Amino acid sequence: MRFSTFLLKYGEIGIKGKNRYLFEDALVRQVRRALLDVDGEFQVYKSQARIYVDCEGEYDYEDAVERLKRVFGLVGICPVVRLKDEGFEALKKDVVAYMDETYPDKRLTFKVETRRARKSYPKNSMEISRDLGEAVLSAFPDIRVDVHHPDVMLNVEVRADGIYVYSQVIPGAGGMPVGTNGKAMLLLSGGIDSPAAGYMIAKRGVEIEAVYFHAPPYTSERAKQKVLDLARIVSGYSGPMKLHIVNFTDIQLSIYEQCPHDELTIIMRRYMMRIAEHFAGKSGCLGLVTGESIGQVASQTMQSLAATNDVCTLPVYRPLIGFDKRDIVEIAEKIGTFETSIQPFEDCCTIFVAKHPVTKPNIEVIRRSEEKLTGKIEELVQTALDTAETVKVGE
Ligand code: ATP
Ligand code: MG
Repeated sequence: MRFSTFLLKYGEIGIKGKNRYLFEDALVRQVRRALLDVDGEFQVYKSQARIYVDCEGEYDYEDAVERLKRVFGLVGICPVVRLKDEGFEALKKDVVAYMDETYPDKRLTFKVETRRARKSYPKNSMEISRDLGEAVLSAFPDIRVDVHHPDVMLNVEVRADGIYVYSQVIPGAGGMPVGTNGKAMLLLSGGIDSPAAGYMIAKRGVEIEAVYFHAPPYTSERAKQKVLDLARIVSGYSGPMKLHIVNFTDIQLSIYEQCPHDELTIIMRRYMMRIAEHFAGKSGCLGLVTGESIGQVASQTMQSLAATNDVCTLPVYRPLIGFDKRDIVEIAEKIGTFETSIQPFEDCCTIFVAKHPVTKPNIEVIRRSEEKLTGKIEELVQTALDTAETVKVGE
């Protein structure tokens, strides 16, 4: 059986009223983008509070479904058989054939639900449902009707260009279409957490851009490649993203030389935030995003997070803040970043870490330690900004 259309269902919450068209238009754009490199030709359009994808000619069904499953904002993907209207007798035969092919095991309950967009059709919705139901019942003795909790909801839509039949609903990604909730700057490392954090924020409709700090020659080309790979996987959900790659070596060395070693990580993170804010400001991001979670490591105790936050003027979003590592791993596995994240290439943070980092940093003390950098660090930060490389990932 050939599915020549997909009917895409989206959640209704929060999109009532005037904002609805914005939500729908963003969704149409994201669906088009998702199908861009799938084999086949697709027409994506909205009609009567639904989004349809017409698939012209041959196309890669499996790939199309895989891509659609990553579009935030969709709650269900229904593959539709589009029938020509050749009279009700022909429709009955086609619907019976549809049930036969779709459900080889007939021990099931069903219900027919009809929507009639074309009001000139000779039967009304109730009659269509009833008569098609009867046709299915008499064709398959094992099938039963259940109007309250059917196993199969057989949907029939009478439309201007034909009759649409569908019953399968493939679960969508949920969330909101990317582009409906502003933009944020993700601090993306090669770890497990930050790609998962980026995914979660993008799922809420936020467009993301990312910044990665590396420290050549202490970190390798392969560590950088790993981050590019992670950005590419996340972009499969979030859409193409800009990734700013910042050379952090001299800043780290300077901190290492001048500041108490147990404060290295905190001070380093404060510089990461400052630089991330710089890029955020330039591209209209309304917040920063990190993969931090309370207590995960010394730099993520409540005191450490407060010390890190101290330098930020933008809100910092930490979608994993209350997650255990195993919950984060579960997300990473689901979105396909885990295998890449566990590749053993050193990230810049792991090079300059102290044996006994402070777990309860005092903000005043940290500020005083940072004063030792004054006079030289400004230039290093400027150089890091000036020499940053920006690549577009996922296009
Ligand atoms: P892991 O998954 O092993 O915890 P991580 O990258 O999360 O790795 P953390 O030390 O926990 O490492 O860092 C906390 C957060 O800080 C990260 O989630 C990320 O948002 C940010 N971060 C850390 N290192 C970098 C880096 N090199 N470049 C950009 N952001 C970074
Ligand atoms: Mg982490």
